[in-house]
Amino acid sequence: MDVTSSLRSLLPYGRRSLGVNQLIAKLEKYLPPADVERVEQAYEYAYQAHEGQRRRSGEPYITHPVAVAGLLADLRMDPQTLIAAILHDVVEDTGTTKLEIAEKFGQEVAELVDGVSKLDQIQFKSRKEAQAESFRKMLLAMVRDLRVIMVKLADRTHNMRTLGALPPAKRRAIARETLDIYAPIANRLGMHNIKTELEDLGFRSLYPRRCRAIEVALRRAKGNQKRFVGRIAGELEGALRKAGIEARVEGREKDVYSIYKKMRRKKVSLNEIVDVYGFRIIVDRADTCYRAIGVVHGTYKPMPGRFKDYIAIPRSNGYQSLHTSLFGPDGAPIEVQIRTEEMHTVAESGIAAHWQYKEGAEGAHARSDRAREWLQQLIEIQQDGNSEEFLESVKVDLFPDKVYVFTPKGDIRRLPRGATCVDFAYDVHTDVGNRCVAAKVDRKLVPLRTPLRNGQTVEIITAKGAKPNPAWVNFVVTAKARAAIRQYLKNLRRSEAVELGRRLLNQALEEFSLSLRKVPQETMARVLEELGLANKNVLFEQIGLGERIAPFIARRLLPTESGSADESMTVPLTIAGTEGLVVTYARCCFPIPNDPILASLSSGRGVVIHREGCRNLASFRKHPEKWVSVAWQPDIDRLFHVEIKVEVTNRMGVLAHVASTIAGTQTNIDRVAVNTRDTNTSTLVFELLVKDRRHLAGLIREIRAMPDVLSVSRTLA
Ligand code: MN
Repeated sequence: MDVTSSLRSLLPYGRRSLGVNQLIAKLEKYLPPADVERVEQAYEYAYQAHEGQRRRSGEPYITHPVAVAGLLADLRMDPQTLIAAILHDVVEDTGTTKLEIAEKFGQEVAELVDGVSKLDQIQFKSRKEAQAESFRKMLLAMVRDLRVIMVKLADRTHNMRTLGALPPAKRRAIARETLDIYAPIANRLGMHNIKTELEDLGFRSLYPRRCRAIEVALRRAKGNQKRFVGRIAGELEGALRKAGIEARVEGREKDVYSIYKKMRRKKVSLNEIVDVYGFRIIVDRADTCYRAIGVVHGTYKPMPGRFKDYIAIPRSNGYQSLHTSLFGPDGAPIEVQIRTEEMHTVAESGIAAHWQYKEGAEGAHARSDRAREWLQQLIEIQQDGNSEEFLESVKVDLFPDKVYVFTPKGDIRRLPRGATCVDFAYDVHTDVGNRCVAAKVDRKLVPLRTPLRNGQTVEIITAKGAKPNPAWVNFVVTAKARAAIRQYLKNLRRSEAVELGRRLLNQALEEFSLSLRKVPQETMARVLEELGLANKNVLFEQIGLGERIAPFIARRLLPTESGSADESMTVPLTIAGTEGLVVTYARCCFPIPNDPILASLSSGRGVVIHREGCRNLASFRKHPEKWVSVAWQPDIDRLFHVEIKVEVTNRMGVLAHVASTIAGTQTNIDRVAVNTRDTNTSTLVFELLVKDRRHLAGLIREIRAMPDVLSVSRTLA
């Protein structure tokens, strides 16, 4: 036994001072003993994990998670949520892993704790209102289980309660974030009590003077109202009883921040707000509410236009009540809310009311569907015309099909789910997309195709003269990126086709000892007119794309009498490897520099390079006009695809061996396939990237020398 735990057993009051006995007393009121015990086990575990850590206030750290669990116990949350609350800081602050939590407390608890830790990792910096809205959505989008948000809100509430220990600047930043982000989320989920407390604490520390002024006014009003409150409550109770309605009438406290907001929104004075008497009437059933409002309106004169039926048309977070304002005794303004007990629970705790522990109603399935049920219920009770808009606003929050990511400056951008770094780049600006060459996600370099996740910070690295890659079209998900890449490729292809066509035509003309420069303008104009083409570039483009045959056009450009071509004069078109989209390398024979090559013209694809002797060229035999004589330009600086077949004896690890030999020669492997021939031998097919024939020859030599290799050959269709 170590010193600390023996000390603890000697200090029976230690636990009480940490708040845990209070928590357990709350749990015993609604949870079966077995569940209470599991929460206690979580406490013991967290106690050990946070051992020696202290909060700013000097208290042992464990007091914080225990207090957070206590807040959730007040909402009568289920045991998993409470355990997660107790453990919510152990991953972040101690060495505990998610796996350990899963082993000790189950997968569900581990997921909840993990969710809270993830939320803690992202921070809100911007002051802009639109950004705050996006940030709130980002938080909700990150959460797969709404209980994570509930733990987070409870965590924030306790942190706000104990804010005093922090330095002023930090205090202000947290208070600001609480007002901008967390209180509105609590409101969105209908968690009124938590929302009110967060607002109150945030307002108090951000604007202490304004807060005090309102409090003073409230206290004064309360003193003045004392005489009246009892009288009004009594008159309302009496009238309701006379009508045979059983009801509870309560005076209603006003909270400072909502008064402050009302003053700003409605431009009214403090006194106009605080001098109003607030009451709440709670009855048994919805139809009783309507009877009760009749009684209330019969007791005091209602103010015109102030009656609101939030029972028939609930607020978007599920809040239901009848609201009305009246002229009380001596014309004193009175506000009354009427609701059922059930509506009251929802009004206080919102979505938490739907998560509350109910015996026999547990089970993972039921739980995962509860958020959906809650939403469904909201939709059903929403009976007014704009339910679609309502659905949109709630659904976006709860079942997000968007991801929210940060720019390096902290601005938030919204993208569809599955969006990649390239989508992000195009979302920022078309030029950024077109010139992007690399991306950093959370400061780490990642492939451009990487899908983005909520809360990540994305930085795009661009380079002057960089061009979009045609392969991007295969993975981008946004219409903007796809359209921009396609448009770019189309333009690129056109200009490349024009250039290639010009060269092909020049090559064809050379056979007649001519060149484009020597062709008289009138001749060119005549040919263009005959072909119905607007200008030379259109002609070149069509030749480049293989839609017109260069030698035919060349013949038409000849001076009328000089006739036949001198076949022996054929000058090959040089291939530099940089032609782009109008020159392709056949995947049947994989030509590489120094290979003897021949090209065919393919309509729409331009020039396709084959190796001499490739069987696929035979089909062009009948159309010699579609053949183009080509040659490699010396010193080509790029890599080409090539395919080799390696026959090997079947032995463990032989593929890995061959692959590592290939990698050892600084050669990239693009693709591997294994065809097992029989029990003894297999054929490995590698698609590699090589510079030229010499590179390939050296590589084949190395592979051939390996013990298990029977033969190596290059594919030739
Ligand atoms: Mn915490």
